[in-house]
Amino acid sequence: MIEYNTEGGRTLVKVGDWKDMYERVGFEMIVDEREDKLKEVLARYTLKNQNACGLKSCRRPHNRGYLVILESGKETNIGNICGKKHFGIDFEKSKNEFTKAVNSQKYRENIFEKKYQLGGLRLEIQLQRENIDQINLYERMHGFVERILDSSTSEKLKDRARRNASIVSVSRRVVREEATIESFEDRRQRQEDRHLAGGVYREETAFIIAGIEAVISYKKLSSIAYNELVSEMDFFSQINPDDLDYKSLVRSHKWSQSIDGKIRALSEVIENCKRFMVTSNIQKITQNKFLI
Ligand SMILES: [Zn+2]
Repeated sequence: MIEYNTEGGRTLVKVGDWKDMYERVGFEMIVDEREDKLKEVLARYTLKNQNACGLKSCRRPHNRGYLVILESGKETNIGNICGKKHFGIDFEKSKNEFTKAVNSQKYRENIFEKKYQLGGLRLEIQLQRENIDQINLYERMHGFVERILDSSTSEKLKDRARRNASIVSVSRRVVREEATIESFEDRRQRQEDRHLAGGVYREETAFIIAGIEAVISYKKLSSIAYNELVSEMDFFSQINPDDLDYKSLVRSHKWSQSIDGKIRALSEVIENCKRFMVTSNIQKITQNKFLI
């Protein structure tokens, strides 16, 4: 099966197998590349079986290559390396134009698709904001990190957030028991013990800070950050992919592919903030500041 997509005045061909190409009007199994010039790359293919290259001087079997049309109107198939070898810069240029046309087509389709989903995404954003506002999540996080905590503890927590280091440990002096049987775990722990002048010390978990990442990531929940996201959505809803040049197309496509991830990441930030703001978690932090 061959599919045609008209793309800015050019035809893009999808090649499913060798028969697709051989049956095309104007296709020649062998062309003399010395008597003809390359016009355009029509398709790129990767097929199961190998078949001969259409260039008279080559005829090497290959399964990855390009369907091309020549100045004479003849079409043939050439391997990737041959194209460069026989048609030089013309081939490189035509190959790039072809890739750009294929990408443009794909980007436009993806952008249109995302435009249809925009209503649902806006609703998700709105629900997130309502959720944040209802429990005053952003202000509570900001208040705790920047006002309630002293700056030294706040900095230490931010550092932990960057490293995702949620385990707060404490060094305890080990009292050696006259045990005769040592388990594998005992032995592993003993190897990690620190031998100091005052005796043998071991690092033990004191407590775990839930949602530690929230100490930094909560900033993404500010109304400024959300308003920015909404403006991006407004901008995206206005664009018509058919009017965009290639550069803008690439930019809008990138955005369209990133928005779901951004919304998912924000849900995660909200969950982390909620875990962090649990009273027992806050108490563990404020009561054991010296350990952090
Ligand atoms: Zn060849």
